[in-house]
Amino acid sequence: MPLDTRRPIRELPEELISQIAAGEVVERPASVVRELVDNALDAGATQVTLRLLAGGVRLISVEDDGAGIPFEELPIALKRHATSKIGNLADLESVGTMGFRGEALAAINSIADCALLSRAAGQSSAYFLDGRTGELKPAARAAGTTVEVKELFFSVPARRKFLKTDATEQAHCVEAVRRHALARPDVGFAIWAEGRLVEQWRACGSDDAARTRRLGDVLGSDFIAQSIAVDYRAGSVRVSGRAGIPDAARARADQQFCYVNGRFVRDKVLTHAARSAYEDVLHGQRQPVYALYVEIDPARVDVNVHPTKIEVRFRDSREVHQAVRHAVENALAAPRAAAAVLAAA
Ligand code: ADP
Ligand code: MG
Repeated sequence: MPLDTRRPIRELPEELISQIAAGEVVERPASVVRELVDNALDAGATQVTLRLLAGGVRLISVEDDGAGIPFEELPIALKRHATSKIGNLADLESVGTMGFRGEALAAINSIADCALLSRAAGQSSAYFLDGRTGELKPAARAAGTTVEVKELFFSVPARRKFLKTDATEQAHCVEAVRRHALARPDVGFAIWAEGRLVEQWRACGSDDAARTRRLGDVLGSDFIAQSIAVDYRAGSVRVSGRAGIPDAARARADQQFCYVNGRFVRDKVLTHAARSAYEDVLHGQRQPVYALYVEIDPARVDVNVHPTKIEVRFRDSREVHQAVRHAVENALAAPRAAAAVLAAA
C-alpha cells in the first residue's frame, strides 16, 4: 500500500475481531454443527437432535438434554473467550472436554442470527436469549439447551459464495454428527432435514460391544462383517476399535476414522501408522477402512494446536505411531482375520 494512503494503527472493533476469528472455526454449516454438538456432549447430553434447513444455511438447530445454562450466564455464553470449561493453565493441559476456547458461540453469533433457549437443571423456568438484540425472556422447555443458528454468513457474502449445494452442505453436516456418533454410543442422535428424519442412532451403552453396535448402525453391517476387533496396549497408549480386512478397502478414504481421547482428529501420524500396517496386504491406491480409538494420558497430547481442534500434537509421536501400527497389524494377523479374508475372497 503506498505511503500516502497508509492509515494509522488502530485496534479493531470487537464485532470485526469476532468476524475475523469466526473465519478460523466456521468454514461451512458443518463447522457450526460440530461446535454445537461438542457443546451438547460437554454438557452431558444423552440425546442430541439436529435440525437443518437448506443444508444448514437457513437453519441449524441443536437440541440437547444436558445440564443447561443458568439464565444469568446466557449472555456471557455468547461473549468471546468465555467458557465454563477451563479456568487456568493447568486445566488446559489436562482438558477433558471437547471445548475449552470459549470462542465458538461468539464466532457463530457474529456471522449468523443466533438464539439460545436453555433451562439449567434445578431452575424452575427456561430462558430464551436473542443473540442479535440481547433480549432475554422466560420461556418453556425441559432441562437442556437448544441453540438455533439462522442465516449463516448473512453478513459475510464472500463466505456464502463458497458454499456448495444445499445437498452437499447437508451431507457434510450429517458427516459431522456421524463422527461424534462413532465416539459416543452412549448418546442417542437424530438428524432432521427439511422436516424429515434422515438419520437416527439410538443410545446403546458405553462398552466395546456398544461401540461395535454403533459402528454397525452408522457405517453399515458390512463394515462389521469385514473388519476385525483391535485391542492393543503399549505403555500408556491404548488402541481399540476395528480395522477392515484388506478386501474391504475402497477407492476413497471415506471410512477412516481416528479418535484421540474421544475427539475425532485428522492426524498424519495416525493415518500413516494405520496405512503402514496394511503395507504387505494392500497394494495400489485402495484405501483401508478403519475406526481407531487412541487413548492416551491427556498430558502427552496437545489439543490446542488448531482453532478447530481437528489436529493434535503428540509429545512422543513415535510411541503413538508404533502403537497404532502394531495394533492394526496384530488385528490383521489374527486367525479370524485370515478366515475373513478367505471367506471374502
Ligand atoms: P467452549 O465450548 O470452548 O467453552 P463455546 O463458545 O462453545 O465455548 O460455549 C461457551 C459456553 O457456553 C460453554 O463453556 C458452556 O458453559 C456454555 N454452553 C454452550 N453450549 C451449551 C450447551 N449445549 N449446554 C450447556 N452449556 C452450553
Ligand atoms: Mg464449544
